[in-house]
Amino acid sequence: MSGIKISESLFERAREVVPGGVNSPVRAFGAVGGTPRFMESGEGAYLVDVDGNRYVDLVCSWGPMLLGHRHPDVVAALSEAVTRGTSFGTATRGEVELAEEIVSRVAPVEKVRLVSSGTEATMSAVRLARGFTGRSKVVKFAGCYHGHVDALLASAGSGVVTFGLPDTPGVTGASAADTIVLPYNSVEAVEAAFREAGPEIACVITEACPANMGVVPPLPGFNQRLRELCTEHGALLIIDEVLTGFRVSPAGWYGLDPVEADLMTFGKVMGGGLPAAAFGGRADVMSALAPEGPVYQAGTLSGNPLACAAGLATLRAADGEVYDRVDASALLVGRIASDALSSAGVPHSLQRAGNLFSIFFTEGPVTDFAAAQKQNTAAYRAFFHAMLDEGVYMPPSAYEAWFLSAAHGDKALTRVAEALPVAAKAAASVL
Ligand code: PLP
Repeated sequence: MSGIKISESLFERAREVVPGGVNSPVRAFGAVGGTPRFMESGEGAYLVDVDGNRYVDLVCSWGPMLLGHRHPDVVAALSEAVTRGTSFGTATRGEVELAEEIVSRVAPVEKVRLVSSGTEATMSAVRLARGFTGRSKVVKFAGCYHGHVDALLASAGSGVVTFGLPDTPGVTGASAADTIVLPYNSVEAVEAAFREAGPEIACVITEACPANMGVVPPLPGFNQRLRELCTEHGALLIIDEVLTGFRVSPAGWYGLDPVEADLMTFGKVMGGGLPAAAFGGRADVMSALAPEGPVYQAGTLSGNPLACAAGLATLRAADGEVYDRVDASALLVGRIASDALSSAGVPHSLQRAGNLFSIFFTEGPVTDFAAAQKQNTAAYRAFFHAMLDEGVYMPPSAYEAWFLSAAHGDKALTRVAEALPVAAKAAASVL
């Protein structure tokens, strides 16, 4: 390590002009303490900070960098696109091609609309579900995170749980009143909600496989049961694949657990590291959107040409070999991390869902948000800092998934394997 003086000084300057010094809360290291590293560049599996420290990246921009940083195809596509202009505010060829790519991969998606962030995608999908059904209530699950949409922040995962924030300051009672929050994986709770409020429920929104309270896979048949209940009661099922989409398989979680949603949301990988996201689904539902239908939704930068170019290049490069590599690396890192923690005597639960995984610093299995919150965050903090010192950049929160890319080769994985026993001992020392 060559010190972190420049990160320290940038953080000081940032705090003067940016709330908390960051543009997304978890980046501030609030949950783990210390100075956030300001990154200067990325290449393949590595990040380099402004002080010149090099880290194996296990965050991968929270998912998008499936191919690793600066993949040659993505760089070439962006370089070519930028010579033609950065934004036109008109329809473009790239938008059509990206929409076709998504529709061809994910069977329930007949039509898709591009937006700029996952938050926009889920917000728009919920509005569309309400507009289409003429109903107001939304069912969501505790610990699932769907972006910072007013109606969906109640009992949310990701940064909301990382910082132990009270549910939704700034969200009016009116916009939260129509949200029904249920415990994850409880079919009984969903059945009861439909019994009580069935005719008012516009939609059930769920993460395809939750990964924002740590990874908590749906119990077998859970998503299918949601499908049946929604159909029975005339509500729409929205499956949020912002995180899982095009990451856990070529068709995302749908490729592993093919439950037909009415609407689906996407982001992260499909933008190749640029701001692109989407929502899509049944043609009759999507046709209720303006200009075909009455439900309004729009965006100055929606379908931005650079974002489409990066997204298309990423999806086109993401072949079977890429998914095999990510799957194998995820399997390996999860196993050696769990072995290291076991050897050091640290209670933990390794939870996997395809190539998604996370480690809860508590005995498992963790099947819902309440169980997730029992973990020893102090142990994670010690673990995180030891990994950082050893040159591995982990999510700065115990509640996030660990991400790998196809660029994580032997050298990077060896560095992770060497760091893990050191970090496991650090975690054990604070038990
Ligand atoms: N939905 C899920 C499942 C997510 O994981 C996220 C972000 O992590 C979002 C929605 C929000 O996406 P964005 O951060 O692009 O607004």
